[in-house]
Amino acid sequence: MNILIFGPNGSGKGTQGTLVQKEYNVVHVESGVIFRENIKKGTEIGKKAKEYIDRGELVPDGITIPMIVSRLQEPDCKNGWLLDGFPRSIEQAKALDEAVEKAGMKLGCVIEIVLPREIAKNRIMGRRLCANDNNHPNNIFIDAIKPTQKGDDFVCRVCGGALSARSDDQDEVAIGKRHDIYYDTKTGTMAAVNYFKDVAAKKGIKIIELDGKPGVKEVTEELMKKLK
Ligand code: AMP
Repeated sequence: MNILIFGPNGSGKGTQGTLVQKEYNVVHVESGVIFRENIKKGTEIGKKAKEYIDRGELVPDGITIPMIVSRLQEPDCKNGWLLDGFPRSIEQAKALDEAVEKAGMKLGCVIEIVLPREIAKNRIMGRRLCANDNNHPNNIFIDAIKPTQKGDDFVCRVCGGALSARSDDQDEVAIGKRHDIYYDTKTGTMAAVNYFKDVAAKKGIKIIELDGKPGVKEVTEELMKKLK
């Protein structure tokens, strides 16, 4: 099964994506991760992409599209892939659609986590990291995982450890830039989502829309029900 997953930064897309990847035993192809690996290894792609990534801008299609299209044709993708972070624009959606067809692959399912922009922004800004364990989720704006109040401060709801905020989670300008791209229905990521919705019936693609407002657990339950 080949799957696309969409959702704004702050929607829990990463978490849900990992669950889908495990459930279907497909390769999780994340464009952002591939870029970061290339930067770490100092490859040509990494060198070219770094300046755009640092500015929070999209890496040009001339670099991104061939990188993803060739990744999907590697042997480990034979049993299926879950593509995350690509396509992010209408141009990338068209290029992917063409490449999938040319390679004789089939897109089986598109998952969209729907979350209003203001809520997505609060989710990101409310995230807190536990000093003891990265996997202790805390968010001052989500009731289900709200940290424990201790005097004027918050401590980890799981272990009582000290909490801190990631600096990039507090950068409203950077969050705004990413969301401008995501919520753009003319040429941005929402345009890519709509592109696949429009061709879904003709191409036999299953569309799964999820309400991202409830907690992670509820969204996962809804996702698993709809995937069956
Ligand atoms: P992410 O980890 O998905 O947030 O991606 C990190 C950064 O990688 C983004 O801010 C972009 O600069 C770049 N990037 C990831 N995916 C794409 C894409 N589909 N098109 C262009 N740039 C991308």
